[in-house]
Amino acid sequence: MTKKAKKKEKDTSITRPPVVALVGHIDHGKTTLLDKIRQTRIASGEPGGITQHIGAYQVEGITFIDTPGHAAFSKMRARGVEVTDLVILVVAADEGVQDQTEESYKYIQAAEVTFLVVINKIDLPEANIDKVKGQLSEIGIVPEDYGGDIVVVPVSAQTGDGIDDLLEMINLMAEMEELTADPEGDLEGVVIESSLDRQRGALATIIVKNGRLQKGEEIYAEKKPAKVKALINWKGNHVDQALPGDPVEILGFKEAPLVGSIVSKTPQERLAAEEKVSEEAGKLKVILKADVSGSIEAIKANLPEEIQVINSGVGPVTERDVFMGQSTGANIYAFNVKLNSAVENLAKQSQVEVIQANIIYELFEEIEKRLEEERDPMENKQILGRAEILAEFKMGDKLIAGGQVVEGKIYQGQKIFLQRKEEIVDKSVLASLRHGKDDIETANKGQEFGAVFSPALDFRKGDVIISYKDEKAD
Ligand code: GDP
Repeated sequence: MTKKAKKKEKDTSITRPPVVALVGHIDHGKTTLLDKIRQTRIASGEPGGITQHIGAYQVEGITFIDTPGHAAFSKMRARGVEVTDLVILVVAADEGVQDQTEESYKYIQAAEVTFLVVINKIDLPEANIDKVKGQLSEIGIVPEDYGGDIVVVPVSAQTGDGIDDLLEMINLMAEMEELTADPEGDLEGVVIESSLDRQRGALATIIVKNGRLQKGEEIYAEKKPAKVKALINWKGNHVDQALPGDPVEILGFKEAPLVGSIVSKTPQERLAAEEKVSEEAGKLKVILKADVSGSIEAIKANLPEEIQVINSGVGPVTERDVFMGQSTGANIYAFNVKLNSAVENLAKQSQVEVIQANIIYELFEEIEKRLEEERDPMENKQILGRAEILAEFKMGDKLIAGGQVVEGKIYQGQKIFLQRKEEIVDKSVLASLRHGKDDIETANKGQEFGAVFSPALDFRKGDVIISYKDEKAD
């Protein structure tokens, strides 16, 4: 009893509004729907009536990101940030599933984000809800009444039909997600829009994910500092603070921060996919993902010395993990967490190995196996070809190796070892291969080529690259 009471006293978490974004094919009505939802609310007695575009607004306890389309998402994805809790996939009832519908669905799958489908424009005479549901089923989005578990809400953004149902459904789904945040905890926000305004200077809209943001305090969007001069909500009102789930525009940044930046009270050194992690020489790099933080701690505490954990986190393996694995050469260890097929495919394409385990000792066995391989890198490898590096060029921030194949073939997309004198000194993937101005898939014996490695390699003239594949792989 006392224990429980004590726990309660410390726990200041609250349920926070879900953050919702709309995606779908162009012209299927995302903008119209967002406008209609906002208008409906204002008509129903929201004071003011004038709203300001800050990139998001709140209606009925829901935070809508009001920049539809992919730009913002792809920017965030590239930085590995997920700001949305729920995505609405909008499909027009007349046109049905289109290219960008499928593309949006891929994004949804890769982000493992909860979603529902809105069939819009049901007011049109050509509207055919059943046909659209059939098309959705074909691409793997099976509606509830077709035997699947995907919620589909028919609406008309024009007449407002179905919008009440939609809002109700969003709230219901959000409830099931049990979204909580702690207003007394550490500030964490995500930049969803940023710009430079002649009069007002650098502006950024963030959505607060945890903690509270207050006027006057000093914050950072990763490394970019701001002294918060003013906070403006979506209705255009100045406010003193923003709580979890709130979108708010911040005045006071010296420079406009990047969309997708994480906001907190301390400057963050960000592990962006394209940035290089400080590496400890000779260590095997790993990224750890696990179901609970307890598992991560237990794993970390027992790792052999030769392992460097470059990143770890609770939750499923994400695209961001793969990007980081690719840029650093780290393997990903997934303990008791899911790996969805979109992420798995990305990992395969990027030659990033994801090792899944559900029992701790299995995970350590796998790590031990990799360490063995490190000690004898050529074991169980099939050599495809060797090439000598004859020159190096700089192009932008990329270092290109110019070379010539001396044996067999080398392949774009294949793994390589870097050999210096008789020793394997590093490994990477042959990310791009060119002959003159042409991209090529392979370079044959005698052929000259230009190559870029990812992760980047510290190669020298005279080094040899060895193209190989794992013998066990097909
Ligand atoms: P977006 O590209 O997905 O943002 O699509 P828009 O919101 O710009 O809508 C594209 C076109 O479809 C516009 O001409 C809208 O007026 C029209 N539209 C959107 N929703 C509806 C609807 O529910 N019914 C009808 N009849 N037209 C709609």
